[in-house]
Amino acid sequence: MGEYNTLIYEALNMSEKYCLGKPREHCGVIGVYSPDKSIQVSRYAFDGLIALQHRGQESAGIYVQNGKGITGHKDMGLASTVFTKKILSTLYGNKAIAHVRYSTTSDSNIENAQPKKFVSTLGSYAIAFNGTITNFLKLRSMLEEKGHVFHTDSDTETIAHVLAANLLETDDYTQAIFKSMNELKGSYSMVILNEKGDLYAVRDPLGFKPLCIGQINNIFMVASETAAIESLNGTVLGDVAPGEVIRITDSGPVKEGAIKAERHARCMFEFVYFSRTDSRFDGISIYRVRERLGKILAQIHPVDADIIVPVPDSGRTAAAGLAAESGIPMVEGLIKNRYVWRTFIMPVQAEREDQVKLKLNPVRELISGKDVVLVDDSIVRATTMKRIVCLIRNAGANKVHVRVSCPPIIAPCYMGIDFPTSRELIAANQTIEEIRKFIGADSLGYMTIDGLMQGIGLPENELCLACLNKKYPIETLDTDFLERQLGGQKRVEN
Ligand code: SF4
Repeated sequence: MGEYNTLIYEALNMSEKYCLGKPREHCGVIGVYSPDKSIQVSRYAFDGLIALQHRGQESAGIYVQNGKGITGHKDMGLASTVFTKKILSTLYGNKAIAHVRYSTTSDSNIENAQPKKFVSTLGSYAIAFNGTITNFLKLRSMLEEKGHVFHTDSDTETIAHVLAANLLETDDYTQAIFKSMNELKGSYSMVILNEKGDLYAVRDPLGFKPLCIGQINNIFMVASETAAIESLNGTVLGDVAPGEVIRITDSGPVKEGAIKAERHARCMFEFVYFSRTDSRFDGISIYRVRERLGKILAQIHPVDADIIVPVPDSGRTAAAGLAAESGIPMVEGLIKNRYVWRTFIMPVQAEREDQVKLKLNPVRELISGKDVVLVDDSIVRATTMKRIVCLIRNAGANKVHVRVSCPPIIAPCYMGIDFPTSRELIAANQTIEEIRKFIGADSLGYMTIDGLMQGIGLPENELCLACLNKKYPIETLDTDFLERQLGGQKRVEN
């Protein structure tokens, strides 16, 4: 990793450490396929990564297939720092997969960055994946007993070995992928590019994570979010359905079939926070969901106040909905400094306290003397919200009412989201009244689970709500084991 990238990476670690107390998404994936061999698609892959940068900022990678095999580049840092024009120009090929990563199940280092390339007896292939394989350690030890040798501690490598084992039994990639899906438990939305130039888009049968397909002129694109396709002036052709395998061919996407499940488990946090506001998840507008959640909040927790202030940027759309329903004006009373990571040389003790102040600054002229409704999408540990309430009070607010568009988070996530363990989740350990006192608000109103389902427009058996109701959708989940595993990983500390 170059000196400049190292510097940026350290700065990002600092910035991410203080990402205002939010859980973080695991990854974003891109696949690009041009039937015209003269078109170099790495530029499209790069632009797609830029559009998905919010889904992972620790590493970025692009691998291309160019008739001579699969080659690529990846490094730690943002896509814009990992890929210079010069590097992109060396990635020559008409098919590509790409990835941005934030780690949850393995260390953040270049060995675990994606895409990952593997060599099997049937040639090489590369995988880029978003999710968590919950049985990967079990699969790994089974494969090690059969002689497979692992080089990293990542679940992506386990996926590759499972696929390699199945490719030994059939030389049909599609069949090998379906066989692998029957063995893999957990959440996965992934793209696979093989040496022959076949590009596959694969989504787990419960459909935890989004994955969609689009077209930009004659080029086909797979992406974690519709916004990535539309940012490139493309047209979204549709979603990869839960359990579905789609192969991209010269004439377009071909549905190879799907593994059916009795229920689905779309991550409710994609609707509430992770996905871009301008994306659609399985055809449902993220903007409309967040706006509806704000309106529902206004109905279930009415409040008499002068202004609504969103916590930028996560609370903005819900705040707009709340303002529309309540008639209380919304103002930008908190301004976010997007370059806070540049101040990374700070005394360690002062870091946590000062970072919220550096990141958010109240507009005293709007807030002083007012009864304020502060809106955010979620409260995790509540330490950040406590500091924001304090900022608003110090700016002269009369009263501070807090409204949250996600219900209380009471349990960890084992499906690929960087959540704290149960003991760190404030709603797992304290009542709403205790949380209100802790954050120093005059009132605190959370979304209900019924309200959330109403806002999303899907019933319980179409969603994962496990961090809200402890009903984990994966039967074989060993939660104690996973909590011990994930509890040992690096965590956001605020
Ligand atoms: S437990 Fe929560 S964050 Fe994790 S997949 Fe389910 S809804 Fe999403």
